[in-house]
Amino acid sequence: MKTGAPNGAKMIIERLREAGYEAYAVGGCVRDAVLGRQPEDWDITTSALPERVTELFSDLRVVPTGIKHGTVTVLADGESFEVTTYRVDGEYSDHRRPESVRFTASLEEDLARRDFTINAMAWDPFTDEIVDPFGGMRDIEDRTVRCVGEPEKRFSEDALRVLRALRFSSVLDFEIEEKTARAVREMAGDLEKIAGERIRAELVKLITGRGAARALLEYREVFAVILPELEPLMGLEMHDRFEYFDAYERTVSALESYRGGDPVTAAAILLRNVGVPTGTNGEKLAREALYRLRYPLDEIKKISELVKYSGEYILHTKKAVRRLASALGYEQVSRLLELKRADALAMCEAERARPWADVDGISRIFEEVKLEGEPPSLKNLAVSGGDIMALGVPKGKRVGEILSSLLDAVIDEECENEKEALIERAREML
Ligand code: ATP
Ligand code: MG
Repeated sequence: MKTGAPNGAKMIIERLREAGYEAYAVGGCVRDAVLGRQPEDWDITTSALPERVTELFSDLRVVPTGIKHGTVTVLADGESFEVTTYRVDGEYSDHRRPESVRFTASLEEDLARRDFTINAMAWDPFTDEIVDPFGGMRDIEDRTVRCVGEPEKRFSEDALRVLRALRFSSVLDFEIEEKTARAVREMAGDLEKIAGERIRAELVKLITGRGAARALLEYREVFAVILPELEPLMGLEMHDRFEYFDAYERTVSALESYRGGDPVTAAAILLRNVGVPTGTNGEKLAREALYRLRYPLDEIKKISELVKYSGEYILHTKKAVRRLASALGYEQVSRLLELKRADALAMCEAERARPWADVDGISRIFEEVKLEGEPPSLKNLAVSGGDIMALGVPKGKRVGEILSSLLDAVIDEECENEKEALIERAREML
């Protein structure tokens, strides 16, 4: 095994065994440890019932996270570990969640309920034994995502697995096995029944993964369901001054050029052309899509702001970049430049040679602007609405107009950000 188990996980497994139960590390952490990737979290599977697990770790913090499904979280050695009782999922009636679960004494039954062979292995960190009844090790070697059991049946139990297949294929850069791939295409429509937040959790990982472009191109029907805003782009022929291109393919190609791994930037690149088919800016459509997928509100704001500004031409001047920084903040300008860089890389060479594709030029100016400190904004302007009203301007729209032209003057370096100078300038406007 390339990655060792953390002390907390070993301690939990050891204590469960000393009490006479079976216990193993299981699922994603085993897969990642075999691959030499750092597991996000370590899950433990055991033959002990949840009440027993709770008792056995009563000296530690135990949280009954999903007690009905047999899961408790144990805090050990400063980390938290989900400990889940061996279980079999009951009947699925709605393509989402099992009606009930049944605990079992059989590790193999527990592994059989899991989605993909690479996720259906248990590992003993003391002996290094791997329990692998479905050929997960072989599939890791072959870099393959394959369902445990019949793909159609497994996807009809829980349609989220359709998207998880693409997620693992993207993040691990694995191919999807043929029968599993066929079922992904056939069952894509069932994703409509899955809650937005579950889709989002997988989508975020998928679009920042190494194999995202391949998944987006080869399994369009999946994305047409979870992001119907993208469907009109598929096969939409467009042209710039130099060549014809498919709007969807160019969008995906831009995403492929982006290697930064920031989920906000990646989502903005993916959504940045959704307005093209209707000749709109796309901000509104992007926002609606993100709401539907239950993105956190602050991310919706950031992503849709990037979509809004993505089509705007940034002049290669300090003034223009300063204005942009003042409106968006440095972090968002960095993202916008990453987006524009990715866009430019997806263009043909001739198009890329034109001034608006010169993102490096703007980036250099942006670096200089950043050295000037925080960008001027209404928040750090040396005068406030109160100061303007004190000059006799009645409360209302005019106050805001004066403030924003003062801000422009500061940004354009026509005036110091200093109270007396600004008041003087405001007086001239009255
Ligand atoms: P990550 O590294 O992103 O956490 P993971 O493989 O650990 O990936 P989780 O969503 O954390 O994925 O789930 C943990 C394990 O539970 C999986 O490895 C798999 O065995 C099982 N599992 C999770 N979701 C499903 C599902 N929808 N259907 C079947 N098994 C699942
Ligand atoms: Mg996990």
